[in-house]
Amino acid sequence: MSTLLIRNGRLLDPASRVDRVADLLVVGGRIRAIGTDLPAPEGAAVIDATGKVVAPGFIDVHVHLRVPGQEYKEDMRTGTAAAVRGGFVGVVCMPNTRPVVDSAPLVSYLVDLAAREGLCRVWPTGAITKGSKGEELAEIGEMYEAGACAITDDGRPVDRAETMRQAMIYASQFDLPVMDHCEDKSLSGSGCMHEGRVSSALGLKGIPSASEEVHVARNILLALETGARVHIQHLSSRRSVDLVRWGKALGARVTAEATPHHFTLTDQAVADMAYSTNTKMNPPLREEADRQAILEGIADGTIDVIATDHAPHHIDEKDVEYPLAAFGITGLETAVGLALDRLVRPGVISLEQLILLMSTRPAQLIRRTPPALTEGAEADITILDLDRTWTVRAEEMASKSKNSPFIGWTLTGAPHATVVGGRLRMLEMKVIAE
Ligand SMILES: [Zn+2]
Repeated sequence: MSTLLIRNGRLLDPASRVDRVADLLVVGGRIRAIGTDLPAPEGAAVIDATGKVVAPGFIDVHVHLRVPGQEYKEDMRTGTAAAVRGGFVGVVCMPNTRPVVDSAPLVSYLVDLAAREGLCRVWPTGAITKGSKGEELAEIGEMYEAGACAITDDGRPVDRAETMRQAMIYASQFDLPVMDHCEDKSLSGSGCMHEGRVSSALGLKGIPSASEEVHVARNILLALETGARVHIQHLSSRRSVDLVRWGKALGARVTAEATPHHFTLTDQAVADMAYSTNTKMNPPLREEADRQAILEGIADGTIDVIATDHAPHHIDEKDVEYPLAAFGITGLETAVGLALDRLVRPGVISLEQLILLMSTRPAQLIRRTPPALTEGAEADITILDLDRTWTVRAEEMASKSKNSPFIGWTLTGAPHATVVGGRLRMLEMKVIAE
């Protein structure tokens, strides 16, 4: 039975109204005691958290682990290593794998694989439609029984409104959230970046904001009609933020996420980074007014969670002409640093809000008990170092893929340690595999 004593940190858990400097003792996977000057039991590992923030463990609800089928991009071990290095105790993985996770046996396969090879908790999602083809509904009830925490056709959004409506009606029976990558493919077509002034100047085909917004609006209307829980993935435009605000005001059970790249970058990065394909993602980086709206949405609670859309790709899929490159960037190892540097330090949000955005609400979204800093709770803990200034380096990344636009960035604030079920999985940004 592993024992861990975290000494003298600022324990901060807004959901449990905990904010005090104390020691925290973990025994056998649970928080055994919280107090001052706790003695270290024989054989206990001790972490000195003086000057650091001890928070309930962070959860990322939008991750591509690429298993099964694309292990050359990422696998269970490397993806969860990237997660714990980034300060996450758990991830929700997307079903757009090969094959698509659209049946109970595939959900069970991922649950088993995560138990054997994962370094953090892994909650699989199941597809909305068979093969994510948008036609026939997948076996939603069976996938739920096997452990799927949500359904989504992320990457291949459900085109037909009636199919989505049926999926919502079905998912409501289990109170299962329907996560949607909102994109009308007839509007986005072969676009490769945001449609606007920069795309015109660069001569690249654009993706209009409306391609996202029409599906956001549709999903909110369907959520109102069916009573289903709808989660808007990675919203990127100012009108999407407004639509979510409107949907919530009307009483729709709608939640939304924003990614670190959408709150830090704009389409200008495509020009500034000289067509680097690490600025190519879907939805694309949009304009400054969109970025500002996302910051407002994060600050006022319209946006419920921060999620990364961690999308690892092999260099061969990125080292090509911009229009031909794969969409997506990695995000697990930079998210906490970007959130601390760009949201908390400038005062866009408080540290307490960050913890709600990255721990409490992500857990509530997938209907799991939120990690908590209370005696008896499971020991899922993220320790933050608010003062550490560090540079993002590709060679230090635990992910198999290095497709990040943040390589070379210097950030202040970092994850310091990650404890998953009582086991220390990361210390000072180094992964502890055993
Ligand atoms: Zn997506």
